[in-house]
Amino acid sequence: MKLKRVLRDKNTDVFQEKPLIIAGPCSVEDYDTMEEIAVNLKELNVEYLRGGAFKPRTSPYSFQGLKDEGIEILKDIKNRYGFKIVSEVLDIRDIEYMIDVVDVLQIGTRNMYNYPLLKEVGQTKKTILLKRAFSATIEEWLNAAEYIALEGNSDIILCERGIRTFETYTRNTLDLNAIPVVKQKTKLKVVVDPSHGTGRRELVRPMSRAAIAAGADGLIIEAHIDPDRAYSDSEQTIDLKELKLIIDDVNRIYRCINKK
Ligand code: PEP
Ligand code: MN
Repeated sequence: MKLKRVLRDKNTDVFQEKPLIIAGPCSVEDYDTMEEIAVNLKELNVEYLRGGAFKPRTSPYSFQGLKDEGIEILKDIKNRYGFKIVSEVLDIRDIEYMIDVVDVLQIGTRNMYNYPLLKEVGQTKKTILLKRAFSATIEEWLNAAEYIALEGNSDIILCERGIRTFETYTRNTLDLNAIPVVKQKTKLKVVVDPSHGTGRRELVRPMSRAAIAAGADGLIIEAHIDPDRAYSDSEQTIDLKELKLIIDDVNRIYRCINKK
């Protein structure tokens, strides 16, 4: 695989001494829920708040997100609590007004092959969280990153979020092999999404530990004050107590494996 210099040389600067933790609900639901989650995340020193305003749902009858109203909620929470916001962009037409609020533009698994969208986010100055398509080879995933980088934006974080295999017990199969592979091939940071990677909340903690042990730079985790009440992806959403346990675990693992 031939990767251009642009992808090999540059790096994003959102990473520090600890693994990057991005947490929050699958979808932005309403102001009060988002605020309660935000207050709890603040106590855990989580700096990156996730929440989808535009939801790519498998069924057109499922909750599609609050759309621009969701972005307004994220804007208010950001201004009041000082989070960095991570949210998915589904459509080129939404970039213009998302850009003032969202710090990290997420490209979802279904859009990894959407080359016009990749090119468009490549023309922004935002950090791009590029999720691996559930059917993508590692090479296809890196080529998608290359599409973004070639437009001038190399501030890309790769996100392994599980691929589709014959296994049905879990929603996806988290491909931890991919972590050392992309770290050997590129200088890009890699975060892992154990929520979509497993689809089961009881598996989020063990797979978070495994991801950091395999060399991931961070995690994106679906967390909610009342997971059973979450509008989307409830079965894989954890509560804030579980999130605290995970953060404690992965900070320790990260320190241990990154000792000079
Ligand atoms: C999400 O993060 O809520 C999401 C829809 O992710 P993915 O694109 O990985 O399914
Ligand atoms: Mn989700």
